[in-house]
Amino acid sequence: MRPIRRGASPRPGDFSIYRDALPDLVSRLGCYCSYCERLIPVQLAVEHIQPKGLPAYQALIGRWDNFLLACVNCNSTKKDKNVVLSDVLLPDRDNTFSAYLYDAGGGVQVSPRLSVSEQNLALATLTLVGLQQPGPAAADANGRLIALDRIKQRLEAWLTAKYARDELLALRPGDAVVAEAVVRLALATGFFSVWMEVFQADPGIRNRLIDAFAGTRDSGCFDPQTSAPVQPAPNPDQLPNGGKL
Ligand SMILES: [Zn+2]
Repeated sequence: MRPIRRGASPRPGDFSIYRDALPDLVSRLGCYCSYCERLIPVQLAVEHIQPKGLPAYQALIGRWDNFLLACVNCNSTKKDKNVVLSDVLLPDRDNTFSAYLYDAGGGVQVSPRLSVSEQNLALATLTLVGLQQPGPAAADANGRLIALDRIKQRLEAWLTAKYARDELLALRPGDAVVAEAVVRLALATGFFSVWMEVFQADPGIRNRLIDAFAGTRDSGCFDPQTSAPVQPAPNPDQLPNGGKL
């Protein structure tokens, strides 16, 4: 899960209409679901980390620091579940990149490299938004199966990233123009973490990805030389319960 820095609120005080925050959030974080990392060009929702449907969090409905971006799937799975900030990992507070492993089959699981208590936090987030839930598959008019859910879409992103690595970049290794094309393909495909995993052995491309996906470098969660994750997250905006991983 891509760690991000939302930064300071673009306006003084809270938003009276929370949807008004959408353009600023997209500008700071890119058009991607903050949880599943899908590219969502339309119908991306302002996501309330602590849900607006619970009376306890009514004061946070317009609060910038309570906003992320979410797709319909993550949003509807999360619904009005209570979110206790100390009990989950969050991409604006923690180094969520280190929390999960993405595989070639589209799966995502909690990293076994974490301590037991860290694994519990990572699993709580995974369950909160249902990242491992299979979704509906549908056939198009020609009977081809269309990937509607997050697992199948991650699998397709993996294949695209692998193609970029083994076919495009292999043609002209070290060529800056090809590297730039690979990064543009990643931005158009989404699933930052899948691309980072496929380019595990290429810190040059990984650093380009970290720079290209808005709000990622600013999180401070990656070493600028090696592209390796930095733990704990430096939490530059000093958000409460940040830096748990
Ligand atoms: Zn999502």
